[in-house]
Amino acid sequence: EFLWQEGHTAHATHEEAWEMVVWAINAYEEVYRDYFAMAGYKGIKSDSERFAGAGCTVTFESLMPDGKALQSCTSHDLGQNFAKVFDIKFQDKDSSVKYVWQTSWGFSTRSIGGLVLAHGDDNGLRLPPRLAPYQVVIIPVGAIESVVNECKAISEMLASSGIRVHTDFADGETLGFKINKWELKGVPLRLEVGEREIINKAFTLTCRDTSQKISVPFTSLAKAVTAELADMQARMLKESEAFLVKNTRVVDSFNKFKEIMAGSRGFIKASWCENPVCEAKIKEETKATTRCRLLDEDEKAGKCVHCGKESRYQWVFGQSY
Ligand SMILES: [Zn+2]
Repeated sequence: EFLWQEGHTAHATHEEAWEMVVWAINAYEEVYRDYFAMAGYKGIKSDSERFAGAGCTVTFESLMPDGKALQSCTSHDLGQNFAKVFDIKFQDKDSSVKYVWQTSWGFSTRSIGGLVLAHGDDNGLRLPPRLAPYQVVIIPVGAIESVVNECKAISEMLASSGIRVHTDFADGETLGFKINKWELKGVPLRLEVGEREIINKAFTLTCRDTSQKISVPFTSLAKAVTAELADMQARMLKESEAFLVKNTRVVDSFNKFKEIMAGSRGFIKASWCENPVCEAKIKEETKATTRCRLLDEDEKAGKCVHCGKESRYQWVFGQSY
């Protein structure tokens, strides 16, 4: 099963359609950054990499830990290509009948694959708090009545603050097994509740992303959990941004280009002449393709990293899946 979201729109003018294309990619970028905590590059595809039916394709490209690029979502300016083939017309304000200008854009479960790859570690998943089905898991230590009651009280308190919480009362599993299980599932915060915690009226939160432990008194648990979830969300995006910056190299020699793509990979920013033949040769020699040219970046005249001819822009290259 393959789930996705997509949009299709028709417009009276090309300007209006382009505004829609940019609106969609900006919305997707926001979802990736603010929910998935994944940074990336938003840009325009080269002629050979864009969707065949589109006049222009805008993409959001993120970088996976193995140094490969993931085309995370796309937004297409379809021009009047489909309108002319399928005879899609409208009557304009001036009563004349015209072909519509169309867009299409999509975001699929590929994003979940990207999330698993980008944020996972040796202990399993790490889910950004805003996406995590459970934001906190409470693990009772011992099955005595006071512990069970305390777990229920904490769970209700957190839930009433809008926190997605789960208490693991499963029988026949050791504490260590439960800790590993919830680490593997990537739950952002873990709270162990035993007799000692009840007596001390203080609880320890363990952060999934950093393994850091924070001691919190019972009375400020909801506040501390809410604050820590927000911090973790911001921390994971920062980590992703730092990884992207560290693994994007500006290169002007093709030997250096080849060396990087044969080694740690990542993104390369380089001048390119926009000739598809040159692009194909780069791919043949390095397995890297143009991923995009940044949407908000101005022209920067230079010499093509491969053939040395005049180039108008710097392009982002990478090996894709
Ligand atoms: Zn070239």
